[in-house]
Amino acid sequence: MKNSIFLFSLLCISSVLSVQGQQQQQQQPPPAQRSPQWDPRSTEWYYPVPPKVTPGQGVKPPSDAIILFDGTDLNKWESASQGRPAEWKIQNRELVIVPGKGDIQTKEYFGDCQVHVEFKLPLSSKEYGNSGVYLQSRYEVQIIDSELNIYVNGMIGSIYKQKAPLANAYTKNGEWQIFDIIWKAPVFSGNDELLSPAVVTVILNGIVIQNNYTLTGHTPYTGLPRYSAHGRAPLLLQDHGAEVAFRNIWIRHL
Ligand code: MG
Repeated sequence: MKNSIFLFSLLCISSVLSVQGQQQQQQQPPPAQRSPQWDPRSTEWYYPVPPKVTPGQGVKPPSDAIILFDGTDLNKWESASQGRPAEWKIQNRELVIVPGKGDIQTKEYFGDCQVHVEFKLPLSSKEYGNSGVYLQSRYEVQIIDSELNIYVNGMIGSIYKQKAPLANAYTKNGEWQIFDIIWKAPVFSGNDELLSPAVVTVILNGIVIQNNYTLTGHTPYTGLPRYSAHGRAPLLLQDHGAEVAFRNIWIRHL
């Protein structure tokens, strides 16, 4: 009996000491804050100062954007084949695909960038409102009628045949849709080896549908994705036989 009382008392004392020890540990500041070498100012920096950018209001682009289409002309664009002029039409300040005239691309070349594209699919089309935004002419973010029963890695907002979107944020045909795309270009060595793959984030109508997705290569209709070394390249819009309309297209170098 005496032994039991002794053991019980010992347990009580040790648990009290243990709680006190924990409290003391919690009250002590972490080592980094105690150390005299860690002046908080040593982890704060003031240069370089990020540039001030005025956000666009409504459908207006931000102050430092390169305006690729504002409803007036196609001066920033050309046909994707052999430098011919872009032959899509401007109608009611909208850029409308003329089926059969081919893809169009920017005259300027881009690497890392932020892209804003607004697009509207026709209410009915035998080609299901198919088009696409190609980063660096090779990597397609799919534009297509979301009511079409298609493979999910080919649906609206997919990285074509690589990655289905995280959500279907499309509203409906005949309504304007907004793509915001953040593009990290792939990097190649002087020997054309891939040093770092492309990474993309896509926001459709304010909803993230691709979140820092790392591409495994280009986005072909047939065959597997692969990388071929390239430098900066144009932004390309696809003619896939449907009268898809575009407006308010702008881009920022990153
Ligand atoms: Mg397409």
